[in-house]
Amino acid sequence: MRNEFRLAGHGAARMTPRKQHMEIKGRELEYLERRGQRIRKMSISVDASCNVIVRAPAWAAHGDVEKFIAENYSWIENSLAEMSASRRQPIDGTDGSVAILHGKEMTVMTHPTNDASLEGRYELDRNAGVLRIFTSDNCSDAIPVLARFYFDMTAKYLGTRIPEIESITGLCAERYEIGTYRSKWGSCSSAGIIRFNSKLSLFPYELMDYVIVHEMCHLKNRRHDTRFWESVSSFIDDVGVKRKRMRSIALGVRFAW
Ligand SMILES: [Zn+2]
Repeated sequence: MRNEFRLAGHGAARMTPRKQHMEIKGRELEYLERRGQRIRKMSISVDASCNVIVRAPAWAAHGDVEKFIAENYSWIENSLAEMSASRRQPIDGTDGSVAILHGKEMTVMTHPTNDASLEGRYELDRNAGVLRIFTSDNCSDAIPVLARFYFDMTAKYLGTRIPEIESITGLCAERYEIGTYRSKWGSCSSAGIIRFNSKLSLFPYELMDYVIVHEMCHLKNRRHDTRFWESVSSFIDDVGVKRKRMRSIALGVRFAW
């Protein structure tokens, strides 16, 4: 009896933060909710790993917690941006910098050249983990060359993978496009056009697959409701883990374009 009482009053269930999701301003916010008898009022913090932690009294209604988060959402956004900006690795094509391809780090080596046939080209040595970029004399075009490298790598994978995933899901977009965006990895329009970010080859293949499936599932359901996540999960394992990995990889880098 005593053990049962201890579990109910002071046990692990109360101490372990619960992972929660809410949709806010069209975006999905994941946060860790800590409840406790000793917590008197609600508060929000952002830790060094960019986790949003919400503390609330045990008696607070779920709706009130969500309301509190909504009221403080701009603070959360700013804190996340600040926390991550300080730790981000620049992907900017400078000599000796890092380029991440499918989750693996490559060292960028710039080679200024006067040879017009080489200028603007790149050469990937996967085994050595080196990406050579041939630039003009003053290296001013390193970023466009690097941007084209990411575009090409993204296009290459999507080109082979989309038909395969179409046959698995039975879903097929009107058209697929690749564009360059700051913050979105994919989108699906009401006209059935799916767009992918040219920087998507940053991510390991299984995360690219997740993005492809995610956008394809939007062809049937434009919202992020329970049924949507069920359909994504019917094709992709551990969706929650994959989304978290994507977020942490994305938060770890800063593209120069
Ligand atoms: Zn979506």
